[in-house]
Amino acid sequence: MKKGLLIIISGPSGVGKGTVRNCFMNDESLKLAYSISMTTRSPRQGEQDGVDYIFTTKEEFEQAIHDGELLEWAEFVGNYYGTPMSQVEKLRKEGKNVLLEIEVQGATQVREKCPEALTIFIIPPSMEELEKRIRGRRSEPEEIVQQRLAKASKEIKMVNNYKYIVCNDDPQLAADMISTIIKRHMEIDE
Ligand code: 5GP
Repeated sequence: MKKGLLIIISGPSGVGKGTVRNCFMNDESLKLAYSISMTTRSPRQGEQDGVDYIFTTKEEFEQAIHDGELLEWAEFVGNYYGTPMSQVEKLRKEGKNVLLEIEVQGATQVREKCPEALTIFIIPPSMEELEKRIRGRRSEPEEIVQQRLAKASKEIKMVNNYKYIVCNDDPQLAADMISTIIKRHMEIDE
């Protein structure tokens, strides 16, 4: 069986990556599988362990790094985030196109290991809109909001490392663009 694509989606915190993803994830023709990351951050309201993230302790995460179990990992605003390697390989071998939703440092690590990865960066329509979206989440204290905004400015500067840039002004439109990109790459790969 032909191995599935490895798709990286990055974009600043609050840009709406999850909302966009929900608009195309269930399209069966895209044959997608979402790679569930490990993180040491606490779950937000409504987030489920094993669905949104594998929520873990710092000790367990550091053990996973030590044991070489992560395809990539990064520290982001005081917490660890990483991609367990085993599920990515298994799903790709099953022909699934595996989607990683990760920040820019992790994306750099994956690009080094898998140069064939399809990389997409989602940008906000403006920094003002991004701030509004981060604040709209009302899940974090002001200090963390400030850190996430500062991080966003740095991340957006990395946009040229990505093959495609998609603006999330309208989530359905952004999702349609991403679906088109994935479908095109499935054809190229045939
Ligand atoms: P959040 O706390 O908002 O869920 O995620 C913070 C940032 O970490 C987001 O940019 C998100 O895409 C990124 N992220 C989520 N999972 C991973 C992962 O496994 N590895 C890396 N490097 N970043 C991740």
